[in-house]
Amino acid sequence: MNRYTTLNSTDYEEVVRCDNEEVGFSAWIAVHNSNRGPALGGCRVWNYICDDDALTDVLRLSKGMTYKNSLARLSLGGGKCVVRADLEKVDRGAMFESVGQFVETLHGRYITAEDVNSTVEDMVAVKRHTKHVATVGASGNPSPFTAYGVYCAIRACVQFKFGHDDLKGLRIAIQGVGETGGRLARLLANDGCTIFATDINQNNLSELQKNVKFHAVEPEDIYGAACDIFCPCALGGILNSFTIPRLHCSIVAGSANNQLLERADGDLLDARDILYVPDYAANAGGVINISCEIGQTYDAGRARQKTEMIGETVTDILRQSKSMKRPTHVIADRMAEELIMLGVAA
Ligand code: NAD
Repeated sequence: MNRYTTLNSTDYEEVVRCDNEEVGFSAWIAVHNSNRGPALGGCRVWNYICDDDALTDVLRLSKGMTYKNSLARLSLGGGKCVVRADLEKVDRGAMFESVGQFVETLHGRYITAEDVNSTVEDMVAVKRHTKHVATVGASGNPSPFTAYGVYCAIRACVQFKFGHDDLKGLRIAIQGVGETGGRLARLLANDGCTIFATDINQNNLSELQKNVKFHAVEPEDIYGAACDIFCPCALGGILNSFTIPRLHCSIVAGSANNQLLERADGDLLDARDILYVPDYAANAGGVINISCEIGQTYDAGRARQKTEMIGETVTDILRQSKSMKRPTHVIADRMAEELIMLGVAA
């Protein structure tokens, strides 16, 4: 049976904990901000070492969703669910049924979706207990839209930095060629870019090789690859005081979440005159796609059009960054905060 505890947390609208000893998991839902609408964010399952780690994660991730959803001008706030469980031991079906009951207790103030270690099939189990779940409907896999959004962000950067639309001949280094990085590689190769790619999973490189000509690079060497654009599409925290001095690129734009290890690393990129697209601006295509099935009939063409607006947002960030002489991550945060304050009217 689920047991619920409401937690006090300043700066968050609602934080609730759920414990289910019989099934063997604990979960937290945080609604960071709902000024622009119900809080959308995925359900992450992780075998956290302790409860505090899970709580820290749900607070950090839900806030990030507020910024991402706002900057993408969605009528949605930011929230997240994290589940602390050992997927090797737990009855997965029973767990997601219980998570569905948990989500339902918020009566639509939080909308869940798949995330790390939760799949569309898991969301089907969640949906048996609540209608407040996205990604089991028509919008399907968000990754193609995420990849396309990063591609639109890159186009905007190239126009801004080099003054042309043509990507032909540009050298692109991609870290991680999974769901998003692999698709991004294909889009950029189609435009005549030269691709340098790395992955720790040889299967993903072999898969890419079927459609794209690329130069394989060792994982550690990707930072030093001589390129025009570096695309982090694997892990967070990879832009830091060790890696930034090694970069040989003019632009950084990729799908990975939380690319900057510290906020100061954004300043470091700026000091090196490397144009950094804040990750949550570049990788919003997936959530934009999901938003197109919430409260409306899904239309893939409309989702694609809305994803293309990432290019305009990025141009806006770059222009303001240049005119105000402030790093792009500072400008993006300020723009998102203004949109949060204004609510859905903006
Ligand atoms: P994925 O697991 O399909 O692909 C990630 C790839 O990175 C894998 O092939 C993995 O082997 C590789 N990788 C991991 N560590 C690496 C390393 N040290 N060096 C090189 N390669 C490494 O994941 P994805 O869905 O493509 O997501 C990638 C990133 O984008 C994640 O940070 C994710 O949170 C973020 N993101 C994804 C989406 C989406 O729609 N899928 C949306 C927003 C953000």
